[in-house]
Formats: sequence, structure tokens, C-alpha cells
Amino acid sequence: MSARKLAVLGATGSVGEAALAVARRHPDRLQVCVLAARGTKPARLAELAREFRPRRIVVETEAAAGRLRADLPPGTGVGWGEAALVDAVGGSHVDLVLTAIVGAAGLRPAAAALAAGADLALANKEAMVAAGPLLRRLAAASGAKILPVDSEHAAIHQALRAGRLREVRRLVLTASGGPFLDRDPATLDTVTPAEATAHPTWNMGAKISVDSATLMNKGLELIEASYLFDVPGSRIDILIHPQSLVHSIVEFRDGNSIAQISANDMEHPIRYALSHPERWPLPDDGAANGLSELLEAASELKFRRVDPDVFPAPSLAREALSRGNGAPAALNAANETAVAAFLGGTAPFAAIVPAVAEVLDRHVREAGGAEPATIDEALEWDSWGRRRAREVLARVGG
Ligand code: MG
Repeated sequence: MSARKLAVLGATGSVGEAALAVARRHPDRLQVCVLAARGTKPARLAELAREFRPRRIVVETEAAAGRLRADLPPGTGVGWGEAALVDAVGGSHVDLVLTAIVGAAGLRPAAAALAAGADLALANKEAMVAAGPLLRRLAAASGAKILPVDSEHAAIHQALRAGRLREVRRLVLTASGGPFLDRDPATLDTVTPAEATAHPTWNMGAKISVDSATLMNKGLELIEASYLFDVPGSRIDILIHPQSLVHSIVEFRDGNSIAQISANDMEHPIRYALSHPERWPLPDDGAANGLSELLEAASELKFRRVDPDVFPAPSLAREALSRGNGAPAALNAANETAVAAFLGGTAPFAAIVPAVAEVLDRHVREAGGAEPATIDEALEWDSWGRRRAREVLARVGG
């Protein structure tokens, strides 16, 4: 069997690096042919290019491409911008695209990969939130698969193999609860970006860490799960599980539930997505991740409900999902805008979720909306959400 040709988008982030670690361990099964990254770590990207010898590197800007060019090995070309990325993943020479791009910026490349028939290993949940039904349609038309990399969705994807969709009673997404699970909500105004990005169990990028702190990450995951698995939001619950060992649960109608357990190491869901429908063996040192060791170390597993008064973000996401008509794209865009403002120092942490709530409210009053029929239309809702969020934040910021 020849190796599948893999593109890794977001190659120098934590998920991209973990995906490349999987590719490094399985060179007979995966051949890295495209690497894409924003280009903020040119030395690391050049190093990866020399190691994997992809035919193409894509970065965000012309300046970043220029910085990289002299350091690339022979046979590796460099391009920049969205059009180059769409071109690199939309060609027939790619079998599998792992996308860990942050935000709705990943939507066009994801759509291009699926339209071209490449399977999509999806860590870029915002693309699914912004246009899940459209991405599924593209996949169905080309025969490509969407394989979740998000740990909760990889867990559900595995657990669903135990029964049929019509036998599912509900999906339960577990949530670590983030760094502020037990913090007095009255003190959240003073949270700094450094505190908000110090996640207790996962080592992740800044945006998703802030989303974990507000629990908007779980809200986005709820929408993602509904679109991925074709289960309505009313049958998806969220349970706080601070140890992040049970990654999600599927309850079947006969009273049996299947939970997926593994160490909180992103390589597990990534390996699952990249190897599906096979399961590739871990290297010998993977024995340290065995189930019995894991459960001995945990000694007990804890679960509790989310308090919607303290963490309203999941309810907002559920509302956007049931409303449809562009509301999930607008909600996601508002959140991206508010999180960027917080990380940039122009909005307090406590303003993020209220800003999203107000944009969602305006979606009802002003927009009415229609279900996006194309990726362009989904991106119009994305732009609308960003504009509205900036207006709301400008007022909050004084
Ligand atoms: Mg997750």
C-alpha cells in the first residue's frame, strides 16, 4: 500500500506539530506533501520542510514567503495567501488534509479540499460551525470524508461505531471547564490574557484557550457535533469533567452508553483521524498511555453539570444552532472578534460572551437571515458578525 499524501494546515501550531509527529512515526503510511502555516515561525517551518520535503509550502503573506524562500530544500516551492492555499489543497495530488487553521479563515481551504475529494481531518471547528451543512454536502458530492480531530468529536465518532444513528439517545460532550471553573465570576473582569490561556489539562493555542475559559469552545463544539453527526442540538449535552480523560459519551436508547477514554494527548485523536478506518499501533513507548495506568493515576473520575448562569456561552451556541440561517456563522465571527480584542488588550475578558450575545440578538432583530446556500454566503454572515461585534465592543471599550 502506498503512503497517503497529506497536507497539514497550521503546521507549526500544537495540533499541526502533533499531526507531523504522527506522520514521522508512520512514514510508510503518510507522505507530507503540503505544509501551510501563518509564517510567524519561519525557522521552524523551514526545518519541517527540510525534514518532510513537501512539494509546497504556503504561508499567509508575501513577506513571510520571502523570508522563507532561501531556507527551503530543492523541490519545495513556496506560495502565499488564501488562493495559493486553496490551490495547494484542491489539487488531485492530495489524499488527506489535516486542517488546524484557527477560525473561519479555514473555511475556503476546507471546502476546496472536500470538493477535490480529499478527506478532511478537521481540527478547525470554526469552519464547521460557519458552514457545516455546506461542507457535508461537498463531502457527499465528492465521496470525501470529514474526520474529526477535536478530541470530543473523535470520541463520539468512535463511540458511534457501536450502534446506528437512529439508536442514539443523546451525545454527551465532556468539557474540562477551563481555568476559571471554580473562580468567583465577579472577579472575571480582571482576567489577563496570560491567565486565560493557561489551560489546566491541554496545551493549546491562544484563541482556543480563551474559548475554553469562556466555555464558548464547548458551544462551538456542540454546533460542530450537530453538523458532523446529524444529531439535533436538543439531543447534545455538555458535562464538565475536569480531568479530560473521558473525551465524550454516546448514550444509546437501550440504556447502554459508550465512553471513549485516552490520555489527554492530541496525538490520539489525530492518529485516529489520520488512520481511519484503520488503527495504527503506537510505538513501544506508547504503553505509558495504557488504560489501566491512566485510571490508576486518575483514581476517580469526576463529572458535573455546567452552571448556565456562570457560563452562558454554550446556551448561546445552542440557540444559534437552532436558529440556523447564518446565526452559527455570525456567532462564531462575533466570538473570534471579541477574543481577538481581549488578546489585543482592547476588551476585558468579561466582555467577550456578552458581545457575542448581543450580536446574536441583533441577528434576530435585524437580519432575519436565510440558510447560507454557498460558502460565499456563509462568509457574508461571518463578515456581518465581525462588523456587529466591532460596533458592540467599541461601545464597551468606551
Ligand atoms: Mg475539543
